[in-house]
Amino acid sequence: MESPRYDFIESLHPKFIEQLHAFFSHEKRYFFKQLEDWVFVKKATNFAEFTNISKKNREILAQNFFLPSLSLVSQVNSGKDQTVKFLLRTQSGHTIEAVLIDDGLANKGYILCLSSQKGCSLACRFCATGTMGMLGNLSSGEIVSQYLMLAALSNRPIKRIVFMGMGEPFLNRKNVFLALDILCGKDQSFRGFGISSRRIAISTSGILRGIEELAGHSLNIRLSLSLHSAIDESRAELMPDLKNISLLQIAKAMQYYSRQKNQAVFVEYIMLKDLNDSDAHLKALIEFLKPLFVKVNFIAYNKVQGKPYKPSSQQRIAFFIEQLQAQGIVATQRYKKGDDIGAACGQLVSKKIVTVSP
Ligand code: SF4
Repeated sequence: MESPRYDFIESLHPKFIEQLHAFFSHEKRYFFKQLEDWVFVKKATNFAEFTNISKKNREILAQNFFLPSLSLVSQVNSGKDQTVKFLLRTQSGHTIEAVLIDDGLANKGYILCLSSQKGCSLACRFCATGTMGMLGNLSSGEIVSQYLMLAALSNRPIKRIVFMGMGEPFLNRKNVFLALDILCGKDQSFRGFGISSRRIAISTSGILRGIEELAGHSLNIRLSLSLHSAIDESRAELMPDLKNISLLQIAKAMQYYSRQKNQAVFVEYIMLKDLNDSDAHLKALIEFLKPLFVKVNFIAYNKVQGKPYKPSSQQRIAFFIEQLQAQGIVATQRYKKGDDIGAACGQLVSKKIVTVSP
């Protein structure tokens, strides 16, 4: 028997629904509503669970569609916090990683850090994912399946979703925007999972076209910028593939986003010893941030074996935060979670790279 050809989650999107209709042309609207309910409400990950659908129709589904779009390879739990890292296989046989991170709130939920690409084309110097190269984009079904599968596997609710895993989301805009439709819903006729857009953040290294398109999108997604240096030359050292995008262009795009959405942009700054933590970097950072509506997160660099970099000292990070706050800029430190299992910021990679704690 041939393998199923169509991605079921993607097929529920209005753009692809015709391929589902084609297999069930005699079924009424209610039937398709039942199918949506199994995925979007009951979070079923197998057609066998669709118990109010006839056996014959379940067989047609299983023969022609796959659900979910990924399969679970392994999962590893952190020994020091509640972080869980998942290795998932795509239809093409590649593996990607997704992470559940304790949200640290009293009502105990998870933040899902999901991937948008298989690897990444940008090869930022400090990042483990960048060492993989670009192995392809994830489909919208594969992006959404990370949420569906981990929601089904987790004993705690997923409260927020961040596109901060493997890949640059804005270099896979078509599928990322389709995935947002499925996660949040599109309009009255397609509600998807119905997740509030305010619970979703997309992190970009500064892809201007993506920032502009998200600013024009009807959803109020939170935008996060991976900055890491406010000096053009030093940013180009750390993120060489982005050297043609100037900080001035990025600042304009961020201002545009804040104005369009009336919300702050989050700025991530990984603190790397002797690379972006000098007084000159601090001065440039303050000048860059002052005119912007931002909230800044400092992150101590998470070591990756094979990379020569070290995190800045805790005192230096605290000094940066203090100096920004003195200028009225909201700044905090994001404490690392899951670094013992290679699940922290910049550590995701789905081939054998051993990560070590500093
Ligand atoms: S930091 Fe982000 S954009 Fe840069 S290589 Fe890693 S995944 Fe890609």
